[in-house]
Amino acid sequence: MAFELERKLMVEQQLKSRGIKDKSVLTAMENVERHLFIGEHMRERAYDDCALPIGEGQTISQPYMVAIMTELLELKGNEKVLEIGTGSGYQSAILSRLASEVYTIERIKPLALKAEDLFKKLGYANIRVVISDGTLGLPEQAPFDGIIVTAAAPEIPETLARQLKIGGRLVIPVGSRYSQILYQVKNTPSGISTSMSTYCVFVPLIGEYGWGEAGEEQ
Ligand code: SAH
Repeated sequence: MAFELERKLMVEQQLKSRGIKDKSVLTAMENVERHLFIGEHMRERAYDDCALPIGEGQTISQPYMVAIMTELLELKGNEKVLEIGTGSGYQSAILSRLASEVYTIERIKPLALKAEDLFKKLGYANIRVVISDGTLGLPEQAPFDGIIVTAAAPEIPETLARQLKIGGRLVIPVGSRYSQILYQVKNTPSGISTSMSTYCVFVPLIGEYGWGEAGEEQ
């Protein structure tokens, strides 16, 4: 099946049918070529309803998870957004179409360099890739309208909540190493408000305010 048709079906069967409503999110997911962010040997599975391996023990998230997380960022088009966990770069590419500036942090250098190269080739010019521990955020570019963490955290890192503008949103999976709940955290004028979304399973966020390499909370 042609990839374009597969993307249309993905949007209908995996996203709209499960309640994704934000038109700009649906349009971005219909347009970004997910198969280009995946190794050639896995491309025919690119639009399957699941996460897929991208090397270095990491995964590209399930399309539905990318959509719901992006929807929870509530983007209008002119925002400055931070992503933690570049991975394949697919989520950053979606964000790049929905916000004006995207910063994305990856701790594994080969993944960061590969994604950066792909952004150049595909013309995603408003994405900056940073190689570092994303649990520290990106203080030199803060505050952000939105922060999205695409790896599982043991708790909400305060460092990240503090880098949100007033009215800003942080979307993050929080829980154990093996199952989590997706949270939307808002920085309101009267303080932080937190709401739960759905159950999910992400690879661990590893760093100072995440998990240790060996699995213990730091
Ligand atoms: N958003 C990605 C999903 C990547 S999986 C995509 O669309 O493909 C999660 C990624 O988070 C992995 O690449 C992992 O290396 C990275 N990661 C884990 N802990 C991190 C940290 N503290 N800082 C930056 N990246 C981290």
